[in-house]
Amino acid sequence: MGRYCILCDRVRPSEAFGGGKDRRARICAKCRCLSRDQQNALLHEREILGFLSQSHISDTNAGRLRVLAGSANPRIARLAALVLDVAAFAPYRRRRIRALARQRRDLLKRMEDAGLAPSRAEWEDSDPNDIDPAAAWYGWHESAEYAGDCAWD
Ligand SMILES: [Zn+2]
Repeated sequence: MGRYCILCDRVRPSEAFGGGKDRRARICAKCRCLSRDQQNALLHEREILGFLSQSHISDTNAGRLRVLAGSANPRIARLAALVLDVAAFAPYRRRRIRALARQRRDLLKRMEDAGLAPSRAEWEDSDPNDIDPAAAWYGWHESAEYAGDCAWD
């Protein structure tokens, strides 16, 4: 049995969490040893990635992304600006990757550079002729797992 950590998006052993309902109950020991700035950056990153996994990025979401694009954290600012650009081109997730592959390779490259390689599900929605690049993208995706520097395992 374990509990889900909202920062690292993993199920961790229950012993890694504190009791009650505050952040200790929702953020694992590994993530709690990050600085507050690092924790916020992780939360914001998950928020931004969450927009990409939604079926549609709404105007409200875009407004939030514009706020995050002004973050003092360069990675968060860059991610938010990138997802804003993706949303402007293809607000709907369905066939987004296919459309990007056909028309906006530059955006796909920026996604790759930012660690936002498309998921297998997104590629399965793409053209069957793109099966080889799909495998390549997915292989990259699996190698890009979040790696904290305060090992818990
Ligand atoms: Zn965690």
